[in-house]
Amino acid sequence: MSERILVCVAWPYANGPLHLGQIAGAYLPADIFARYHRLKGNEVLMVSGSDQHGTPITIKAEQEGKTPGEIAARYHQHFLESWQQLGISFDLFTTTGTPNHAAVTQDIFLALRDKGYIYQATVSQPFCPQCQRFLPDRYVEGTCPHCQSPGARGDQCDECGKPLNPIELIEYRCGLCSTTPVFKDSEHFFLKLSAFNDRLLTWVKEKNHWRPNVLNFTKRYLEEGLKDRAITRDIDWGVPVPLDGFADKRIYVWFEAVIGYLSATKEWAKSSGDEGKWCNFWQGNEAKSYYFIGKDNIPFHTLIWPAMLIGYGGLNLPYDVPANEFLTIEGRKLSSSRNWAVWLPDYLARYDPDPLRYLLSINMPETGDTDFSWREFVRRNNDELVATYGNLVNRVLTFVYKNFDGCVPACDDIDASGKELIGKSDAAFVTMDNLLSHCNFKQALKMAMYIAHEANRYLDEKSPWKVIKEDRQAAANSLFVAICIITRLKTMLYPFLPFSSQKLHEFLGFEGRVEDDGWQPHAPLPGQKLLPPEPLFSKLDDSLVEEETARLGHASS
Ligand SMILES: [Zn+2]
Ligand SMILES: [Zn+2]
Repeated sequence: MSERILVCVAWPYANGPLHLGQIAGAYLPADIFARYHRLKGNEVLMVSGSDQHGTPITIKAEQEGKTPGEIAARYHQHFLESWQQLGISFDLFTTTGTPNHAAVTQDIFLALRDKGYIYQATVSQPFCPQCQRFLPDRYVEGTCPHCQSPGARGDQCDECGKPLNPIELIEYRCGLCSTTPVFKDSEHFFLKLSAFNDRLLTWVKEKNHWRPNVLNFTKRYLEEGLKDRAITRDIDWGVPVPLDGFADKRIYVWFEAVIGYLSATKEWAKSSGDEGKWCNFWQGNEAKSYYFIGKDNIPFHTLIWPAMLIGYGGLNLPYDVPANEFLTIEGRKLSSSRNWAVWLPDYLARYDPDPLRYLLSINMPETGDTDFSWREFVRRNNDELVATYGNLVNRVLTFVYKNFDGCVPACDDIDASGKELIGKSDAAFVTMDNLLSHCNFKQALKMAMYIAHEANRYLDEKSPWKVIKEDRQAAANSLFVAICIITRLKTMLYPFLPFSSQKLHEFLGFEGRVEDDGWQPHAPLPGQKLLPPEPLFSKLDDSLVEEETARLGHASS
């Protein structure tokens, strides 16, 4: 029986281009997982969207003299292009700016308030007497009390990474006009997180399939005890509070962005013509939800969103939250503000998508931080994609195409080493199935590459290019085995390398999409017509290492 898999992916702020840290952290693992489940024949829904409402967007808009809506629309368009080019296969990538999202958010807000999980209280907020406005935390600047860095913001210090409150900053000032803000009372709504602490503890205790870092982090929070959190603020950009007297306040972005998973599912159902279909992914035991996020986002997905769902009632809580650790760049912490980052559109303008997908998968920060370096990118591309997998495919298909009239040769006997290799590939399907369904992507990819390596070894041993001169049938037999393995590799590698798998699918003479043939060890039919093969990957020149590393840390164009 097929399962229903909801693949939820972090919502990026629409205030700048995507970088490789975000891709390795959330988007690529989510896509691998979704593609794998589609191959399995499961019902998959993969959703996310641009977060249009955070202060990162209003700040960018003020810097550029644009409206936040213009900034958000620009980057949303960039995101859609990046997904297309990198092959991140969303079923829906929407935005938090839709009327549907506002309606779903307001419904949850009102339901939680009716049940007593949202209450009103007065808080003291920074107010700029010059700008005549309340200042969101990020708009307050000053010196960090922990590391003395002069450019810290009221929510966090970028230098030492510590979270901050505006009042903790030394010599705090308005980020817009540098006036010293005063603190004024303001009426706000709070989510009563403390009411969910025990229920979340009970829920988390059963989550032994979670990654240890995610589980431990979550338990630690709960053992310290959750504190109630303000869910509205004094700002005019965001989802309106659905009550009279709060026209100058909006729902806080951290509260509404997580609701996006639900609102996106509803939007998808509506546009599919079957409005009620969203329930399939949110209710019942046969629906499982997975949340792909970076580790900085863990508390929102293992504590806050589950608390909101418990409070609202009747909807499934996350089944798994396979959060990834961080990707460093050339040994240093990624920093957008210092341009110590590799931007996805820049990468995609110069290179193919699959080599990046390969490197970020084989080096995925699943259980600890990993590093991206251009040298490693070139090495993995040349030694593994080109020399191991690409070369296997290319030498077999080119030789068969030339010597067997462009068709899969007929095989009359598979010898012991051929049977052994096929047996290994069968076993790899089973192992990879288990690894992929448990979100162990790195190990799964290594398994597939091991099969490619073994196939090369088999061919070296059989040397059909020599044997064909004396015994054409013996050469045909070993080439048939090699073609079987290649056929399996295009399925195994499809979640990771969708573009080259589809190409290979066509070279092998299969029709339609790889995905439609399912997750199983296929074999081509003898006599099956091949297409003229071309190399799947190209060798990269070492000189790009220097060129690319020279771009790091300089102002972007
Ligand atoms: Zn600091
Ligand atoms: Zn000001």
